[in-house]
Amino acid sequence: MVCSHILGFPRMGAQREWKTALETYWKSGSGAACAEPDAESLVRMGKQLRASHWALQKKAGLDWVTVGDFACYDHVLNHIQLLGCEPARFGFTEDMSELDRYFAMARGSLREEGGQALSMTKWFDTNYHYLVPEFLPDTVFSLHSERLFDEVKEAQALGYPVKAVLLGPVSFLYLGREKTDGFDRLSLLPKLLPVYREILERLHREGVRWVQIDEPVLGLDIGEKWLAVYEKTYAELAKEPVRLLLTTYFSSLSGHIGMICRLPVDGLHVDAVRGAADLQEIAARWPSEKVLSVGVIDGRNIWKADLDKALALLKAPELARRGNLWIAPSCSLLHVPFSLEAETAMDFRLKQCLAFAVEKLDEVHALKEALEKGDAAIGKALDSSRKTVAFRKGDWVHNAQLAKRVGKLAEDADRRKSVFSIRQALQRKRFRLPAFPTTTIGSFPQTPEIRSVRASFKRGILDEAGYREAMQKEIAFCIAQQEKLGLDVFVHGEPERNDMVEYFAEFLDGMAMTANGWVQSYGSRCVKPPVIYGDVSRPKPMTVEWIRYAQSLTDKPVKAMLTGPVTILQWSFVRDDEKRSVVADQIALAIRDEVADLERAGVGIVQIDEPGLREGLPLRRRNWREYLDWACRAFRIASCGVEDETQVHTHMCYAEFNDIMPDIAALDADVITLEASRGDMTLLQGFSDFRYPNEVGPGVYDIHSPRVPSVKEIVGLLKQASAVIPADRLWVNPDCGLKTRQWKEAFAALENMVKSARLMRETV
Ligand code: GLN
Ligand code: ZN
Repeated sequence: MVCSHILGFPRMGAQREWKTALETYWKSGSGAACAEPDAESLVRMGKQLRASHWALQKKAGLDWVTVGDFACYDHVLNHIQLLGCEPARFGFTEDMSELDRYFAMARGSLREEGGQALSMTKWFDTNYHYLVPEFLPDTVFSLHSERLFDEVKEAQALGYPVKAVLLGPVSFLYLGREKTDGFDRLSLLPKLLPVYREILERLHREGVRWVQIDEPVLGLDIGEKWLAVYEKTYAELAKEPVRLLLTTYFSSLSGHIGMICRLPVDGLHVDAVRGAADLQEIAARWPSEKVLSVGVIDGRNIWKADLDKALALLKAPELARRGNLWIAPSCSLLHVPFSLEAETAMDFRLKQCLAFAVEKLDEVHALKEALEKGDAAIGKALDSSRKTVAFRKGDWVHNAQLAKRVGKLAEDADRRKSVFSIRQALQRKRFRLPAFPTTTIGSFPQTPEIRSVRASFKRGILDEAGYREAMQKEIAFCIAQQEKLGLDVFVHGEPERNDMVEYFAEFLDGMAMTANGWVQSYGSRCVKPPVIYGDVSRPKPMTVEWIRYAQSLTDKPVKAMLTGPVTILQWSFVRDDEKRSVVADQIALAIRDEVADLERAGVGIVQIDEPGLREGLPLRRRNWREYLDWACRAFRIASCGVEDETQVHTHMCYAEFNDIMPDIAALDADVITLEASRGDMTLLQGFSDFRYPNEVGPGVYDIHSPRVPSVKEIVGLLKQASAVIPADRLWVNPDCGLKTRQWKEAFAALENMVKSARLMRETV
């Protein structure tokens, strides 16, 4: 028997209805005029969305609807409530509703102490962020929420066969954090397992036949200690009569396969896209009477599947002779947009190559049909898939000239003409900046007026001349503010950019934007990644006009602002018919040409932002080297085409760099600015230990908060910084761009920042 299913579905709805509902609800809670929707209507909306998502799964012909993947904010937070381990620091009282406690943990409560929101971190290597469970030695667990069981009942009432989803106990602990030293969260496992058993028992009693239990950490290098608990854990859970489908995704399972194949569960799901190389071994070792769920449809990308290729894989002898084959996307569809239906304005050629979540349901089912009834049963789908495959090889995605250029790139294309010390001397002579030079990271507050001008221009209500005039006015305003503040290196303020990747995607050939391709990032926040569908090239300058205008207004150097190749790649859906490293080189050349044009226009300082570089690191450490080699080279190709006198900055947001310090140094940017204020400059230790040779601007002002830091505080941070980095190599800047701040607070904070730099100058 062949079955078809999915591991999870996007939550936001076709038109991001859930985002709207959440944000309206939060506003009403904070006392704003609108009373709708109250908690009841929010709950009703969630119910409607789930019902419509199940209906889509049913309509596509899947064998189960998946229940438990929906979350008001985040699925890990759902588990914190389900398992009854809400941190005591929130001081929740009996009379608080489950939903109020839920949002308090997600967004913070007003409590003086201990009310700050749970911290948020990236879900594996996706752009989704989960809330991190907090553990203490006395953390206890208990079945504490009816939500999952209620949702099961909802689906059953609609007549659907249910497969419920849980995040597995080992992954749940692994993804959390200890809130005190000297204790190991893994020691909580014996207290956690009885609650899992109780949940499984309840689900069984409610008539659920299969439970999908996600253990995605099995695709990480979790270490012996964690691997060692799996067999006992699942032996314990297997005592419950409900059937368990152990799900893994995002990565190869290599190294853990033997252990996994011994686990006493009834089924195993593997990511056959990222873990394609493991498939043969797993098929050979996983007991043949058990279910094997093969994730052949790519759940991380938006390309229509090559059904022939997928079928060839599924028909391979070691799979075909299995009696219990399930077919699925590689992972939850949470990471792709809802449906192509909304893409009414998209180039038809591109559109016919894509499949979003709804379309992927059909692909999963088509594969099952073909296996059961023969290829002829899905003639139409196969036809369309074949056309797409042929079409994607066509001229429209290839650029022969560019391929030649990438192929012929000089060996030293990623090296500056001279070493840093020579460049530094020349740049010092050129810019004559004071010690502790002050600057910002690029964007200034994006007011509602700026947003509405951009929107009007996009909709054709405002013409090009009107748009340019409005943007220039804004740039002039930013320049005037910076003069007033007395900053040393200016920026134009980025008013013309809605987003640091989308802005460039709109200029570059080979990249396209979607109208409605939203993907949840966290809570109600969604991002709309561009699609890289072909060879990437730059038909014309993208930023020169704005920077030149800004520079015409001041004698201070204006730093041009670009997004780096790795970040553009990392924050897009990337073509799957070309190596990522090649796409990175192509984008790098486009940025390199832009840098050259800027230099020709007289610009002396160029910043190339790479906040995506660190997060692009592969999940398995053994793949780091290869990634870092091509990613760092792409940055250098983009940045190294300049004269010694031209100063290259790069910027990266909050991240640990200690483990990749040699690679960060090898980027050879003249200046690197970092988000550092939240960690009390501890981030700099790695730079110091490594004797990082170039200049550094550790952020001294947390731009995530409206709070204005005092001079005393900033001077304190600068003193801490100069204790580890020589003062003559330090810059003074905020953590990141000021786009989300209000002018009033940004101006006050920058005023204090400039004052602090001046005080520091007196000390050298
Ligand atoms: N230059 C960008 C800005 O200032 C950088 C944003 C980022 O690092 N995320 O907004
Ligand atoms: Zn940043």
